[in-house]
Amino acid sequence: MRTIFFHGDRNKKQIAITFDDGPSSITFKILKVLKKENIPATFFIMGKKVNNNKKVLKQMIKQGCEIGNHTYNHTDLNFKSSKVIRTELLDTDRKLGDINIKTKIMRCPHFRFDSKAVSVIKKLKKMMIFVDIDSLDWIKILPMKFIIFFVLIRVRNGSIIGFHDYLEGIGDNKRVVSIVRDVIRKLKKRGYTNWLLFLRCWSFNIIFNKSGNLMGYIFFYIIFF
Ligand SMILES: [Zn+2]
Repeated sequence: MRTIFFHGDRNKKQIAITFDDGPSSITFKILKVLKKENIPATFFIMGKKVNNNKKVLKQMIKQGCEIGNHTYNHTDLNFKSSKVIRTELLDTDRKLGDINIKTKIMRCPHFRFDSKAVSVIKKLKKMMIFVDIDSLDWIKILPMKFIIFFVLIRVRNGSIIGFHDYLEGIGDNKRVVSIVRDVIRKLKKRGYTNWLLFLRCWSFNIIFNKSGNLMGYIFFYIIFF
């Protein structure tokens, strides 16, 4: 089974909306927007936040969203021991398991990892989900209009867009509620009506394109190492 994914099928008019670092006090607001627009999204959450956010996590599942593992403490998985990597992921799984939520997908904090992390994640039979469109919503000085514009000019079939409902070390990312609402509405106008969920598309060969993944992997290696 393939482990690393950077985007979905480039031949399908299908997009994944993803959020990292939450849940936070604005996650319910995001869920409201998603509900109103009738679309699902994927939330990569931190294990340490599960206890205080059980209600919102259950709401995600209730309205058809899915939850991924973003480590327990938002730990950079680059140059870490196998034990640390396993603990970060399994402790989060355990917390989610306490409220009957299971997940097989994960996202590396800061998109950083090394070959050891890949082999641990492979052994845990998890899929590493990256993005091909970083919304840049974490850069405070960028105006909202620019963020929305810059997402929309880059997005294409199969894109995985990354937003944040929380910014680890900074706080709630309040403006993402209207950013996401705008992006979704504009994407719908462009004919994107199909939304990618990873856990529901377990047979990844159907949705992911081989050569694209390889190029993405090389690209990330060039950027981050
Ligand atoms: Zn993160």
